[in-house]
Amino acid sequence: MTAKPATTASAASAATFDVERVREDFPLLARRVHDKPLVYFDNANTSQKPRQVIDAVDAHYREHNANVARAVHQLGEEATAAYEGARDQLAKFINAPSRDEVVLTSGTTQSINLVAYSYALPRLKPGDAILTTVMEHHANIVPWQIVAARAGATVKAAPIDERGELIVEKFVELLTPEVKLACVAHVSNVLGTVNPVRELARECRRRGIPLLVDGSQAVPHRPVDVQALGCDFYAVTGHKMLAPTGTGLLWARREHLDAMPPFFGGGEMIREVKFSGTTFAEAPHKFEAGTPNIAGFAGMGAAIGYYRTLGFDAIRAWEGELLAYATERLREIPGLRLVGEAAEKEPVISFLVEGAQATDLATLLDLEGVAVRSGHHCAHPLMQFYGVPATLRASLAFYNTREEVDAFVAALLKVRKLLM
Ligand code: PLP
Repeated sequence: MTAKPATTASAASAATFDVERVREDFPLLARRVHDKPLVYFDNANTSQKPRQVIDAVDAHYREHNANVARAVHQLGEEATAAYEGARDQLAKFINAPSRDEVVLTSGTTQSINLVAYSYALPRLKPGDAILTTVMEHHANIVPWQIVAARAGATVKAAPIDERGELIVEKFVELLTPEVKLACVAHVSNVLGTVNPVRELARECRRRGIPLLVDGSQAVPHRPVDVQALGCDFYAVTGHKMLAPTGTGLLWARREHLDAMPPFFGGGEMIREVKFSGTTFAEAPHKFEAGTPNIAGFAGMGAAIGYYRTLGFDAIRAWEGELLAYATERLREIPGLRLVGEAAEKEPVISFLVEGAQATDLATLLDLEGVAVRSGHHCAHPLMQFYGVPATLRASLAFYNTREEVDAFVAALLKVRKLLM
């Protein structure tokens, strides 16, 4: 079953977005938590799933379950069609030049590690460097540190300013000849900052330095076109974009994939295996050893279908309105400090409340039915930059409402008093 559009693409505006209709597609949103209506503002952590995705996973196991590529029987063909169909849809979703440049993975962490071990490690020499930024998720820092340490290379971080924007001139200054790869988040998972990826890619290309973009927090909110961005690698995780957990992709330029050795060895990634030597399948299959998350990718296909039906024009109009409204309402709270006020943001709001620990607030908010995240958000260097151990983070999705923002602010005012 496909989603009904909440608005027509030509009339995409917050005023015409029928959020109540959209919410009917998300069964979990009707839940109560601690006997309160759920307000789910932890979407940057993982998104909720529409019934179209849940149904696709259910239908896979009820009607089509078989392994991919190993069977000539009907069920095997159906499972393969769902899995390979998701690759086609993902290729279109990010405007990859070819489906063969889309490696299906378990998520961004695996995608980045694949590049770290298969692209970076064989190339890095002592004295080389990898450039990343202060605002990265650990998934875009730690793999580089591991392979850099093995090679005698280093990891450098480009700075940000107090507003949470990357200082582009500094990033460019740091693109020195020893830098062999640059890695940047498209959107920060803590600050919501949208990085100027096209500009960064242009600067990297001028210097012959490949650029990897962590797209985890971008794809749920904006159309992504890897060709227009001009980067070399783009990593995506599925569970933040309506799809099941354990799904994701790495897009890479064909020449990189061809030059990269396999990372995992096993079934399905070979052409011929002999004890005298094995020859490998072509990309992307040489990177997809073993049985993949077939049901998950059946769900991924449905997730992309859902985005297509709703349309990013409508999603962006509604999320933009929600972000502005939530930011304005939070500013009313005495002692509240926003962390991350970039000019261009996706709907992720980190903040601190004077006199109250972030984790205490999140625990009390949970008792009010409000799910937000507290902690370091897998971004220790960013917390170190702001000199705090943790922030609270409210991250919104297109299925959230203004009324939920009001309920969240009311709950925050209530629990803040308890801690004062
Ligand atoms: N990168 C960013 C910016 C993220 O927000 C996350 C998850 O929070 C990741 C990478 C890791 O994604 P996954 O755990 O799905 O591999």
